[in-house]
Amino acid sequence: MSITVLGRYRVDATINSENMLQRIHTWVPDPVLGDMNYEHEFTNASYIDIGNGIRFPTGWHQHEGWDDNYQAQSVNAGHNAFGGTLADIRANDCAGDITVPASVRRASFEVEVTTRELSDGVWLLGGSSHNSVAVEFDNYVAVVEAPLNERRNLAVIDEVARLAPNKPIRFLVNTHQHHDHIGGLRTYMHIGATIITHWKNYDFYTKDVLNYAPRTLDPDMVALWPPTELAEGYQYETVRENYWLNDGERAMHISYVHPLTHVEGMLVAYLPAEGILIEADLFDSPAPGDPPASRATAANRSLFNHVERLGLEIETLVPIHGSPVGWSEFARLVRAGR
Ligand SMILES: [Zn+2]
Ligand SMILES: [Zn+2]
Repeated sequence: MSITVLGRYRVDATINSENMLQRIHTWVPDPVLGDMNYEHEFTNASYIDIGNGIRFPTGWHQHEGWDDNYQAQSVNAGHNAFGGTLADIRANDCAGDITVPASVRRASFEVEVTTRELSDGVWLLGGSSHNSVAVEFDNYVAVVEAPLNERRNLAVIDEVARLAPNKPIRFLVNTHQHHDHIGGLRTYMHIGATIITHWKNYDFYTKDVLNYAPRTLDPDMVALWPPTELAEGYQYETVRENYWLNDGERAMHISYVHPLTHVEGMLVAYLPAEGILIEADLFDSPAPGDPPASRATAANRSLFNHVERLGLEIETLVPIHGSPVGWSEFARLVRAGR
């Protein structure tokens, strides 16, 4: 049976031959996967009696994306299941009225882009949980990172157009394939940018993310105006170890950081003349008011070792999460833990 929830989501339920709810399923909009499969499954054995003839499942199993373990139709799916067991279930046992906190009632979802010039023609585009960095070359602009969603990236693109008028954004450098870092890949593809990414991300991006699958719940630009170039394949530059953007005036060196436990297929971007290294998730600088990290993480050490091995000379570390920090400060943190 199916019902429509919030006037928008068709939720369907599968009821088995014992009259037990076996599965509920719907689609939700997702910036990376589009109309995304969302389902919960329950086994008969997990049902308990909670009185008044009502039976309720104490265990569940959930998927976001198709449960496609064999990757027959999608690269991503099947790896994102989780489940759980509820120890104590009581019917209609509600603890009085819940007051919505003022901060939640006042919450605003405005997209804010704050700009900070890191060096001549190098801008940190912040104001969000995830930064992007714009680097101006002679004839074009390269942007590092397209996080979150289309709205965020359109606001960043507007700001880049203001900072470097009449220069196309020719390259989008993608650090890694975690979903919060790739919600704007389709946006940049649609404005004609080439996506620079590690080659191990290519199959996932071409099959699951930058595809022609219809997006009906929250259509983005690619879904509304699908460009024929999407099927051409030349919107990618895949990196194995090293990649350079260099127009004789400015250079950006992109390199593959490995091995990592955080993710496979991670790139960092280095501006040699400016002594700037841009990285995601290998070091997050603390939020304002939070104390600095007291111990280096495994990811911190991997980043540090990568920089030493390649002999990069860095003054400023520019994280995608948080504010830039001096390299010497970061190096002190890593060396202290050795
Ligand atoms: Zn990540
Ligand atoms: Zn991150």
